[in-house]
Amino acid sequence: MSQATDTDVREDGQIESVSGPVVTATDLGARMNDVVYVGDEGLMGEVIEIEGNLYTIQVYEETSAVAPGEPVENTGEPLSVDLGPGMLDTIYDGVQRPLDVLEEKMNSAFLDRGVDAPGIDLEKTWEFEPTVEEGDEVEAGDVIGVVDETVTIEHKVMVPPDYEGGEVVAIEAGNFTVEEPVAELSSGEEVQMRQEWPVREARPAGDKQTPTTPLVSGQRILDGLFPLAKGGTAAIPGPFGSGKTVTQQSLAKFSDADIVVYIGCGERGNEMTEVIDDFPELPDPQTGNALMARTCLIANTSNMPVAARESCVYTGITIAEFYRDMGYDVALMADSTSRWAEAMREISSRLEEMPGEEGYPAYLAARLSQFYERAGYFETVNGREGSISVIGAVSPPGGDFSEPVTQNTLRIVKTFWALDADLAERRHFPAINWDESYSLYKDQLDPWYRDNVAEDFPEIRQWAVDILDEEGELQEIVQLVGKDALPEDQRLILEVAKYLREAWLQQNAFIEVDQYCPPEKTYRILQAIKHFNDEAAEALDAGVPVEEIQNVDAAPKLNRIASTEDDEVPEFVDDLEESLSNQLRELY
Ligand code: ADP
Repeated sequence: MSQATDTDVREDGQIESVSGPVVTATDLGARMNDVVYVGDEGLMGEVIEIEGNLYTIQVYEETSAVAPGEPVENTGEPLSVDLGPGMLDTIYDGVQRPLDVLEEKMNSAFLDRGVDAPGIDLEKTWEFEPTVEEGDEVEAGDVIGVVDETVTIEHKVMVPPDYEGGEVVAIEAGNFTVEEPVAELSSGEEVQMRQEWPVREARPAGDKQTPTTPLVSGQRILDGLFPLAKGGTAAIPGPFGSGKTVTQQSLAKFSDADIVVYIGCGERGNEMTEVIDDFPELPDPQTGNALMARTCLIANTSNMPVAARESCVYTGITIAEFYRDMGYDVALMADSTSRWAEAMREISSRLEEMPGEEGYPAYLAARLSQFYERAGYFETVNGREGSISVIGAVSPPGGDFSEPVTQNTLRIVKTFWALDADLAERRHFPAINWDESYSLYKDQLDPWYRDNVAEDFPEIRQWAVDILDEEGELQEIVQLVGKDALPEDQRLILEVAKYLREAWLQQNAFIEVDQYCPPEKTYRILQAIKHFNDEAAEALDAGVPVEEIQNVDAAPKLNRIASTEDDEVPEFVDDLEESLSNQLRELY
């Protein structure tokens, strides 16, 4: 984005009125979505409505000192991000201003107004290594070289999507800034590492494919029951304190995505500060390097201006698309999309638009789906495959899922992880409700699970689902008449379901051996519980009372598999299964 300074705002138009983040101006001669600089201070804004000679602008900064009559400058460019090496290991605000650069410029963590900064460092040089030679033909999107962006990620330098392409007439290795040409094409075009892209427009890609690989999260309930596909969409709605942030962060840390884009969208200020402080400290379990080496953070706290919150999800997804184009699997987390929708609502009401449900604009559903639609498993323009998986947290007021943001999100996403205040209160974590949650990717991911985890994974998962369902129904009876009134076989189901909940579904994000569970271990725990179930059913058939079955010494050890080191799991479970068989068979 080009630089504005607070002294030389060109007077293309004049401010007519100011209402919070919404400013109107006359005579601007701008197009929809053009970026403008507003007032003597040159605050950044975007044209969102044009009526005759009246231009409505949403301003990304505090407008309290702006007055009618002040100048407005039109850049003639849509809101864009700078794409290139240097985005990883960086924390941005909602319009891609690096927070550390802003802080330095103002010498304080409190963002002043009218300060602009390019999204990537224009002075830093990168060691460029060509991957094509002079004489090669290249097209838009093709990779022509690489730079080591971080210790973890190799950044692919691509011919911009709007280039004509042609024969490479000059290219060489060396150190370049992001604005220096690294290659020259016969078309006369010069390729530099930096590309600009308007955030509200999806970057071009080939066809979306049906995703068939899971985004392995290392969370048993997700990988086991409600898997998300690479390129899929998921929503985590939940009331305050139910674990949205912990779940999003576990996904950021442990999911097998190459790149993580984490959008902290207007959550309470101090919570975002936590993320900003914590993330740079986190190690990357995949590589041992810092997690930030494959992460880009976009931070918009609720004390930042509302319009910047509206734009932050677009900034995030555009950055995600750029890494997708390089052939990477990107996981994008937005926490929370409710704050984003509230920003939309606030701007809409300032515009005096006709409000829809609960005051949200009528276009809420369209905006949500435009955002989630940018997720997918794609063939990229350069013939690679890349994906963007989008996981949106939703914070419905009072945990009421019938409100418009949750409902509209549910119509779009294919995976739903419903957080539950009751489970959280009972300290059952992750507090994901297995009755209400679902994944529509299950069937298409089954072949992957059969090939990569266990041939019977889908069947054993279905067995677990059935037991949990039956438990749900039996609990209703138990509440009326008590457990003792149930027949023996039903009491056994309750016992087995208890182990499914405690030994399998519960997972502690704060215990090192348990915070990441490989799919093999997820499967093995399940298998052990099923083994107990099958042996117990035989004992029951042979007349052993359920009381005695419950009391075998080995059974509670099922709860210990999760906290057993991954490499010790096979032996531990083999021994446990043997003890279970022996002890249960001794009873008859
Ligand atoms: P939210 O973002 O929904 O307000 P948080 O993610 O901050 O909620 O979670 C609230 C608290 O719940 C955490 O501080 C933690 O104590 C507990 N918690 C949530 N998920 C887990 C988990 N997987 N393991 C252990 N504790 C958890």
